[in-house]
Amino acid sequence: MFKLALNAGHGMNTLGKRCLKKLDKNCTREWYLNSRICEKIEEKLESYDGITILRLDDRTGQRDISLKKRTDAANDFLADFYLSIHHNAGINGKSGGGIEAYIYTKASKQSLEWQKALYKAVVDKTKLKGNRAQGICKANLHECRESNMPCVLLECGFMDSKTDVPIILTEKFAEAVAEACVEVIANKAELKKAIAKQSTPQTNKSNKVLAWQKAAIKDGFTFSKCGADGIWGDECRAVAKLAVCKKRLTYKYKNLTEIVQTAVGVKADGKFGSKTQKAVKEFQKKNRLIIDGQVGLTTWQKILGVK
Ligand SMILES: [Zn+2]
Repeated sequence: MFKLALNAGHGMNTLGKRCLKKLDKNCTREWYLNSRICEKIEEKLESYDGITILRLDDRTGQRDISLKKRTDAANDFLADFYLSIHHNAGINGKSGGGIEAYIYTKASKQSLEWQKALYKAVVDKTKLKGNRAQGICKANLHECRESNMPCVLLECGFMDSKTDVPIILTEKFAEAVAEACVEVIANKAELKKAIAKQSTPQTNKSNKVLAWQKAAIKDGFTFSKCGADGIWGDECRAVAKLAVCKKRLTYKYKNLTEIVQTAVGVKADGKFGSKTQKAVKEFQKKNRLIIDGQVGLTTWQKILGVK
C-alpha cells in the first residue's frame, strides 16, 4: 500500500495568503486554491487501488495547522511521499511567474526524481511555465526539511502576477495540476486502476437533477444520449460546464437561473442580476467554492448535491 501525505498549505484565514486585490477583487485565499487542487487529486486517486491518503491540513480550512503538526503527522503515518500544494507570491502585480517545485537543500535522490517528474508534468499540462527559468528549486523549507520521506512542495503559480492570476483561478487549471500530480503518483507508485470502482455506473435518480435537466432543455441544451433521466452522468457534466449562469447572461438561461435563485434563496424571476450574484457568492463562500459569482460545473454540483 502506497501512503501519500497530501497537504493544502495554510488555512482559509491565514494572514496575507491570498490573491492580490487589484488582480482578483475577491482576494481568493491561497488555501482555497490549494485545497481545490488537493480535493481533485484525492478524487482522481479514488479510481486507483493500492494507495491511501492522509490530508495534513484541516479540510474545512478553519484552522491553520502548524507546520510541525503537519510534518509530525506525515512521519507518524510513515508516508511514502509528501506532496504539499501551495501558490506563490512575490511579483507585486507585475507580469511573469509560473510553476515552481521545491525540495530540501539536502534532499534525497528520490526527492529530486519526484521533483523533476512533477515539475515536468505540471508544466506540460498547464502550460504555465512563466518566466521562472529555475522552476526546479531547493530551499530550507520546514515541510521539505522535517519530513522523513521524499517531499515536494509545489508552488502552482503566483497570486500577485497579472499573467498567472487569471489562469490559476480557473477550474481548468486546478484540474490540470491535479491530473499531472496523479499521473506522476500513479506512475511512480505503480498504481493499478481499480476496475470494480471504475465500472460502477451511477444510477441514483434525483429529482433535483431531473428538474435541472428539464430546465437545461428549455434553455436550449440537449441530452442526446440519456435525455432527462434524473441521473447525473458525463453528459450532465458536459452540459453543466457550458450552462454557466452569470450576470448579463440572464436572457439566455432563464430556466436554469430560476433553479440557481431557488437554491441561493432569492426570488426566482429568471433574471441573473446583482442580487442573485451576491447570493451566489455567499453560497460559494459557505460551501468553500471559488467565489466568482457564476454558476459553473462545481457550483452546479453543489446546488444539485451531486459529484
Ligand atoms: Zn503557501
